[in-house]
Amino acid sequence: YLGKNIFGSDFNLDIYVHNGAGAYICGEETALLEALEGRRGLPRVKPPFPAIEGLFGKPTVINNVETLCSVGLILSKGAKWYRSFGVEKSPGIKLFPISGHVKNPGVYEMPLGTSLKTLIYECAGGIRNNKALKAVIPGGSSSAVLTPSEIDISMDFDSLAAKGSMLGTGAVIAMDEDTDMVEVAGNIMHFYAEESCGQCTPCREGTQWSYRIIDRFLKHQGTKQDLVTLENIAKHMAGHALCALADGAAGPLRSYVTKFRSDFLKRVAVQPREVPQPRIVR
Ligand code: SF4
Repeated sequence: YLGKNIFGSDFNLDIYVHNGAGAYICGEETALLEALEGRRGLPRVKPPFPAIEGLFGKPTVINNVETLCSVGLILSKGAKWYRSFGVEKSPGIKLFPISGHVKNPGVYEMPLGTSLKTLIYECAGGIRNNKALKAVIPGGSSSAVLTPSEIDISMDFDSLAAKGSMLGTGAVIAMDEDTDMVEVAGNIMHFYAEESCGQCTPCREGTQWSYRIIDRFLKHQGTKQDLVTLENIAKHMAGHALCALADGAAGPLRSYVTKFRSDFLKRVAVQPREVPQPRIVR
């Protein structure tokens, strides 16, 4: 129902589509509002939350397109119909984009609560070249990675949270036995280091430090102490910043270091690297 005087009422509804500049952080609702108001997309301090004070200071409801697409179906077919899909606390359907080393990558629309194993082996046809599965990211790069023994899990908000991960975007990435998890961790932390808006010290410094330390492993110059440092950085990023980007970097970082430690240990330096000594100038 769009346009002026809908059904002869005084109610008008217009839609404007505004192109963003492409920053990852503009997916955070208050950064998105800043961008819409013509400023740099930096997350705001909350409260006030957008529902109280949002776009141009007015109450604003923010939802993603996937959620809004469900509204029409719920209104036409009813909430009971919608709740017949999914599980008790996560009802409905979800788009699951599946990528990585699967035979049939694509976007699969399935009920929430579908098993991760079903998504990988039935929807996406299993791992290509019949290789073994090594790891799965269940909900986009901000979600903690899962091992093959953890994929018999219901893809819903509570089940993944109970495993220390999250449903997030529902974007599944499956990785085969040949994947080097240090490279994956480096790739992800490089992304977050680039995308951190820099307002909060734990996020700005933590993402950069983690990436630089992982880069040492990539050059076969890591140390066992570096692994302890990485876990410490993750601990100090989580819950100590303005928006969810820091948590979204900390959770995966911790999971790669703890669950795939052997991949990191393979890249520990044989000769300890030289640590530059301070020069004393008299
Ligand atoms: Fe910016 Fe990171 Fe702070 Fe979010 S957590 S506001 S991305 S510095």
